[in-house]
This record gives sequence, C-alpha cells and structure tokens, in this order.
Amino acid sequence: MNKIKVGVLGATGAVGQRFVQLLENHPYFELTSLVASEKNANKTYEETMKNKWFVSSKIPEYAKNIILSECKPNLNCNLVFSALDSSIAGEVETEFVDKGYIVSSNSKNHRMDEDVPLLIPEVNSNHLDLIKGKSNFIVTNPNCSTIGLTLALAPLHKKFGVEKIFVSTMQALSGAGYPGVSSLDIFDNVIPYISGEEEKMESEPLKILGELNNNKINNASIKISAHCNRVGVKDGHLETVSFELKEKPTIEEIKNELIEFNPLKNLNLPSAPKQPIIILKEENRPQPKYDKDEGNGMSCVVGRIRKCSILDYKMVLLFHNTIRGAAGGAILNAELLHKRGYLK
Ligand code: NAP
Repeated sequence: MNKIKVGVLGATGAVGQRFVQLLENHPYFELTSLVASEKNANKTYEETMKNKWFVSSKIPEYAKNIILSECKPNLNCNLVFSALDSSIAGEVETEFVDKGYIVSSNSKNHRMDEDVPLLIPEVNSNHLDLIKGKSNFIVTNPNCSTIGLTLALAPLHKKFGVEKIFVSTMQALSGAGYPGVSSLDIFDNVIPYISGEEEKMESEPLKILGELNNNKINNASIKISAHCNRVGVKDGHLETVSFELKEKPTIEEIKNELIEFNPLKNLNLPSAPKQPIIILKEENRPQPKYDKDEGNGMSCVVGRIRKCSILDYKMVLLFHNTIRGAAGGAILNAELLHKRGYLK
C-alpha cells in the first residue's frame, strides 16, 4: 500500500513532538513535512529541539535531519496534523483547507464550527457525515480534558441518559504547552485556573454527544460544571467526576457498560486501543504515574465507581493528555478517515 504523505504543523511544541513520535513507522502515513514558526524554519528538527523540553526521552532518529518548513500551504503532503498555537491555528488551518489540504486539528479554533466534526471515533463517528462529499476539510479532536470525560460517559449516556456532570480536573504540565510550562510557578503548588478550559469542558461534550439530524448537530442537553486545576505531574490528566443519570442502574451495570464499550473493535485501526475504557479495582487507582500509558496511552482508565450522595454516582478517570488527549486522538481520527475513504 502506498502510504499517505502527512505533515505536522507546530511540530516543535508539546503536542507536535508527540505526533513525530507516534507517526514513526505508521502503517498508513508517511511523515514528509515538519512545520514550525518563522524563527525555527530552515533548521533541522534536532537543532531546534535540543534546547526544548522533550516529551519523551529522545528525539526520534527518523525525524532528526528533517528541515523545518515555514507555515505555508506549499508542503509535499495531502494531510496535515495541526498542533499550532491557537493564536494562529484558526487562520492557518482555513488557509490550508482552501489550498486543498485535509486538516486534522488539535486546536480549539474550528471545533465548534457547524460543518466541522468534533470527533472521538468510538463515540460519534457518524458526525463524519458533516464532511460527506468534500475533498478538503477540517476534522478536530476535543480539548484534552474533554476527551477522557466524554469517552468515559458516552456509553452511560447512550444506555442510561446522562443529565448532570460535576467534574474537577488535575491536569498535567505538558497540557500547558512548551512556553506555558516554563511560566508556571508549579513547584510546591497547585494552580486552580486554566484559561478557557472550563468553558471548553462545559460545551464540547454537548456537541460530541449531540445527534446529527439533516446535516446539523442538535447538542445534547446535559448540565456540566467543571473545575480545572494544573498540578505538578508531567503527563496524564486525572478527573474526579460525579454524574446524574436518567435511569438508575446498579454500580455493576455501570461497570459492565464501560467494559463492554468497544465500537471500533472490527475496524482494526492501528491506534485504537484494544479496550477504550479500562476499569481498575484497586481503591487508590488510577494514578498518572502508573496508569497513563494503558492502551499505549489511548485508553481511558477508570476507578472508584461508587454512589454519590449529591449526584447519583461518582468515579475517577485518567488518560494521557498528549496521546489520547491530543496527538494520538488526531491520528486515530485520521485513521478513521482513511478507513472510511476520505483520504485519497
Ligand atoms: P506549544 O507547546 O506552545 O506549541 C505550539 C506550536 O505552535 C510550536 O510548534 C510553535 O512553533 C508553533 N507556532 C507558534 N506560533 C507560530 C507561528 N506564528 N507560526 C507557525 N507556528 C507557530 O503548544 P501545545 O501544547 O503543543 O498545543 C498545540 C495546540 O494543541 C494548541 O492549540 C493547544 O491548545 C492544543 N492542545 C494541546 C494539548 C496538550 O496536552 N498540550 C491537548 C489538546 C490540545 P515554535 O516552536 O517554532 O515557536
């Protein structure tokens, strides 16, 4: 099979680095272009990255000598993964689509556009109908903290109807991006504010869990209240969640729905985890240090499912924020596009 040529916009950032790592030897995609800002264009990837905090222990060998390109739609590829800073992502992604590229984006800018799927392949692959018949388009993945929350609640919403969600996050440092981390006073500290994060968590799940009718998404009607906190963990967002359901299943019935949930199992997508939701039995788990890499960083790990005296139920969930919550999620979206014949 001829591989599809792909590029990464924002390849030098926290998410961009993950793309470079995850695209090594990818069975569908061949990474041909790495893009950064003007100040780093025309340098090798290795030269630019040697002074940056690197998300994994080393720069992948295959990418070291790739010369960084300027952020212009003249790249030798058909599909670009965007990990651009949101201050420029909106405009740049539109420019790439106008010039005939397909964009799989991590940035917030186009997520809520009416004709753009906000995709978690296990949850709302039918929303790809929004781009039916188009040859160039944008698909987006949700905000990192939204992905884990929505993935874990989607099977419960489908079966029992989620009515209210109250969630507190403990979000890892890599979620702040490379320059973001360096400006945080995080040692011996917790920062109870992440700009724009609560608004995204309170709105994006409604689109993802919404129903597609006549090429329009009718948002789900769930009340969500989110508290977002930055903690001194390198990778892995932990969330404590209370939720109210329309029906009142037993804890065992909830666990069964989560364990059984595996809508992609017959598609054989390379990045899809064998089990999207994993339940741990130990009382003090999941923990970022031990559990964030489950399913190669693509599974959502759930624990402590129990009754809540205010809303009906509560639980803890964890997922890798730069893999399932960002680069891995966008690659899985592109793999689904490929399977469905959207990538020519
Ligand atoms: P980051 O570490 O700050 O990286 C930003 C990237 O954008 C860098 O490669 C940077 O290149 C590039 N860039 C900045 N200004 C540019 C310009 N004018 N022209 C071209 N390139 C430019 O950010 P990040 O955390 O990787 O996040 C990337 C995007 O993904 C953001 O929109 C973010 O909200 C979203 N996201 C992040 C996470 C996460 O866990 N970190 C999760 C989900 C979504 P230089 O190095 O050359 O400046």
